[in-house]
Amino acid sequence: MNDSPIHVNGNDHALVIGGSIAGLLAARVLVDYFDRVTIVERDRIPAQPIPRPGVPQSYQLHVLLSKGAQILEKLFPGFAQDLANAEAQKVDWAADFRWLTPGGWSPRFVSEIITYACTRNLLEFQLRERLLDDGRVKFCQGSQVTGLLANSDNTVVTGVQLRDENDREIEVLAQLIVDASGRNSKSPKWLQQIGYQPPQKTVVNAFLGYATRWYQNLSSNVDYKVLYVMPKAPNYPRGGLIYPAEGDRWLVGLVGVGRDYPPTDEAGFKEFARSLRTSEVYEAIKSAQPLSPIYSYQRTENCWHHYERMSRRPENFIALGDAVCAFNPVYGQGMTAAALSALTLDECLQQHQTGSSKDLTGLAQRFQAKLAKVNSVPWLMATNDDFRWSTTEGGKPNFMTRLLHSYLDKVSLTFSSSPELYKVFLEVVHMLKTPNAFFQPRFLWEVFKLGR
Ligand SMILES: Cc1cc2nc3c(=O)[nH]c(=O)nc-3n(C[C@H](O)[C@H](O)[C@H](O)COP(=O)(O)OP(=O)(O)OC[C@H]3O[C@@H](n4cnc5c(N)ncnc54)[C@H](O)[C@@H]3O)c2cc1C
Repeated sequence: MNDSPIHVNGNDHALVIGGSIAGLLAARVLVDYFDRVTIVERDRIPAQPIPRPGVPQSYQLHVLLSKGAQILEKLFPGFAQDLANAEAQKVDWAADFRWLTPGGWSPRFVSEIITYACTRNLLEFQLRERLLDDGRVKFCQGSQVTGLLANSDNTVVTGVQLRDENDREIEVLAQLIVDASGRNSKSPKWLQQIGYQPPQKTVVNAFLGYATRWYQNLSSNVDYKVLYVMPKAPNYPRGGLIYPAEGDRWLVGLVGVGRDYPPTDEAGFKEFARSLRTSEVYEAIKSAQPLSPIYSYQRTENCWHHYERMSRRPENFIALGDAVCAFNPVYGQGMTAAALSALTLDECLQQHQTGSSKDLTGLAQRFQAKLAKVNSVPWLMATNDDFRWSTTEGGKPNFMTRLLHSYLDKVSLTFSSSPELYKVFLEVVHMLKTPNAFFQPRFLWEVFKLGR
């Protein structure tokens, strides 16, 4: 039964809802500005790098893009070495990566676009360990936030209501509340409960489904660390990825666009792999030893809650990560976008520091506006590609989108003869450069000459 509410003092205290990638990174930034930071996480936090129920996608293959890896290194110096020590696999994204793009096989060369490949569980575990070692962040685990607390006229969010692991209702006060509770964030509803219109929402859904299985020892007789057979619009909605992870494991992910969901039974999974544009994924798995069942996942729509457009908002409450903008995961952007959210928070808090007093008035508005700009690039990249499929819902490609598709098709035809342009393509995919990089004058001629 619930006890009477416990009030926790809110002075110089920031509270993060959700202890996944976005929440952990936000907490890392917040410790530089607040005396105390609490992460409220509904799951019990595992002591090992294993999946947990609050992040059902954690069974699926997760690629950390190079931009994300750079930010993690900045926030946690030595992080790449931590991953290496935990047996994550070093990947050069041109030398070690065999990629069947829409224009053909990618060239292989040393690009120095490097990341460490591992399970999402290891990545999250290492981030959490770093925060636990730091000691300034407190985890309130097994506790579910159930609503926002506000001052008497609801102009300032002052804390959260939560149900802790002993089923007690608790009110926790804080000066800044950060929602990092993911795709299923309840903040739109909670804001309504304290008198605000929920943010508008844009959804673009390519109805892409995942099926992932973990294997042992796939690597013999292949010359890659990562293999990606990409779907190709309009006729090839199926793709497959082989990705290495710690502990000599390999994650094999199959994807299908437009509700062509990959099956989760043994024979169907293999048959789907055989039906890709090349049989290499099938060849790799046909006699391999699986380590897991086949895990499927189909909540993959791009979904943007436009906090930046709210005409009225309470102070001292912000949202970031998937809670604001979740992407079709096939482009591998989510964790990197979460890392960029954390950097954006850092920038905004820096600008807000006025001597010793902490007046956060205006921070929420400024942060959500900046974050929207940051998210707009991966959003454009993901939705632009999803609009190649006639089955995608949530809008139709306009003239500019079609023009872009046609230009990018030409770009991908140049890769085999222009490693330089392929490297730029990789840099764009890894969010190190924006897609404007494709339109440099020196490339335009090359694309039109080679990409015919
Ligand atoms: C199939 C799939 C594959 C993906 N592949 C990639 C990839 O290759 N690369 C990549 O970068 N990204 C990928 N992503 C996206 C990635 O998982 C997320 O973008 C990333 O985890 C950041 O999400 P987040 O931290 O905002 O939210 P989440 O990871 O969803 O975490 C939300 C957290 O909040 C907690 N929570 C929720 N509600 C409450 C509450 N009321 N109270 C307390 N706690 C709460 C949850 O338990 C959870 O821990 C993929 C996603 C999916 C679905």
